[in-house]
Amino acid sequence: MSKGMQPKDFAELYDKFQANVSRYDCGRFCAPLNGGTPICCSTQHAVPVVEKTEFALLKTRSDLWHRFKPYDATTKKIVSELASSCCAIECKGAMFCERDNRTLACRAFPFYPYINREGEFIGIGTYWIYEDRCWLMSNMQVVERDFLEEFIAAYEFCFAKDPAEFETMKQHSATHRRTFTRLKRPIFLIAREGGFLKVLPGGKGIVKVAREDLPRIGIYKSERSYAKAVKEAGGTLPEQSVMANS
Ligand code: SF4
Ligand code: SF4
Repeated sequence: MSKGMQPKDFAELYDKFQANVSRYDCGRFCAPLNGGTPICCSTQHAVPVVEKTEFALLKTRSDLWHRFKPYDATTKKIVSELASSCCAIECKGAMFCERDNRTLACRAFPFYPYINREGEFIGIGTYWIYEDRCWLMSNMQVVERDFLEEFIAAYEFCFAKDPAEFETMKQHSATHRRTFTRLKRPIFLIAREGGFLKVLPGGKGIVKVAREDLPRIGIYKSERSYAKAVKEAGGTLPEQSVMANS
């Protein structure tokens, strides 16, 4: 029986997975909607969940992280439903980020390993509940090749050490398909060999798509809709255009 990922395995994984997701500092685009803090670095939006063994490693390297204290009914539910091998943690905040001591979740966000019906790890999908706030999910064309390769190597390493994690991601992918079939929407993926895929709803197959055909979502559809959302949130527009090309 597998013992799962141990602290030394997370240390090895951190060494393997260091690439920047893109040449953009994507937090500049979502932070103006969230009081100046990137959405994924704020427990008001996303509570980091880690294996207890990962937290054990982090505590030997830094005082950046502490146990997360639930602050409302939703976060109490998140914490109460965690598997016994996991815990919810919180960092000191984006101003204090330590690049080498980011969790696997920090490094991978907003992506997860997508497993198809046949059980093959064919690419990377997104945590769709953040699609209305996360700029990167509307701009998957900017993801760098190095990031993609390191992401895949990191999760293959993780799955080899901890088959239960593979099952969790397989279930998550199935939930993604069910949810999007109900919504009659396709799922867009970055293929593991590069390029993009579209998973058609209702199990109607998977087709290749060009980067120009990737969707922009909600407020990220235009400069205008983004500027309106930033204004409503009381934020300041970034200098760089929100419509990235490559
Ligand atoms: S990954 Fe998404 S939510 Fe996180 S900083 Fe980038 S744009 Fe914001
Ligand atoms: S460690 Fe860095 S990347 Fe991770 S949540 Fe904290 S500020 Fe964000």
